[in-house]
Amino acid sequence: MKIDVLSLFPEMFSGVFGQSILKKAQEKDALELRVIDFREFSTNKHRNVDDYPYGGGAGMVLTPQPLFDAVEHLTKEAPVKPRIILLCPQGETFTQSKAEELAEEEHLIFLCGHYEGYDERVREHLVTDEISIGDYVLTGGELGAMVVIDAVGRLLPNVLGKEASHQEDSFSTGLLEHPQYTRPADFRGMKVPDVLMSGNHKNIEIWRKKESLKRTYERRPDLLEKITLTKEEEIWLNEIKDHKTT
Ligand code: SAM
Repeated sequence: MKIDVLSLFPEMFSGVFGQSILKKAQEKDALELRVIDFREFSTNKHRNVDDYPYGGGAGMVLTPQPLFDAVEHLTKEAPVKPRIILLCPQGETFTQSKAEELAEEEHLIFLCGHYEGYDERVREHLVTDEISIGDYVLTGGELGAMVVIDAVGRLLPNVLGKEASHQEDSFSTGLLEHPQYTRPADFRGMKVPDVLMSGNHKNIEIWRKKESLKRTYERRPDLLEKITLTKEEEIWLNEIKDHKTT
């Protein structure tokens, strides 16, 4: 996958893109990341990228010209049509299923806003997607782009150690993940559940599924409304609701 980021603050990305999974993804050639300062595309003699809003009001608005020119430059020789993603608090809220959808693409372009936001024509005529990372307002789109790129990057083939390791993550299954334990089996009197050390894989699988249902019911019951449970899972969930399971 190829990802281009258009930002006025490219230095912000060096830490996140140069560490951990995103660094590994680039080393494995699963991901090509490029950050471009779209000020370079401004035709204004002072390289300005913003201007006062028509109708008045506080703050400055990003002008359409540098963003349109930068995207046209990036797409002109692209073999596949890229998804052009605007980071914006008014967009659809980012989810794991959106990350899975974007991970299928070959080329993504992210537009990071600043100031009061973008000229509306960018939203209407340039982008394919508008993504918000939550119901709060950030100073710029850079942190949002990093969040989305991290979530997408780890889903690319061969990026994580084991292919299965993201398929069982919270949200990928539609549920929150079950609790995890590691050594020691007894830490200051706090013990690991016996079933996990029993070696009985069937029982471990059932315990994990029940814990996953329980955790989702307790913390995110809204997620249960969006998935179809098996008959067995429905019975377990009813037991959880009746406090029959521990
Ligand atoms: N005036 C805008 C509004 O009320 O919708 C907010 C502009 S905000 C100060 C500047 C930029 O930060 C936005 O253009 C966007 O790129 C980014 N941004 C802010 N909050 C965001 C969020 N929740 N998700 C994604 N990007 C966000």
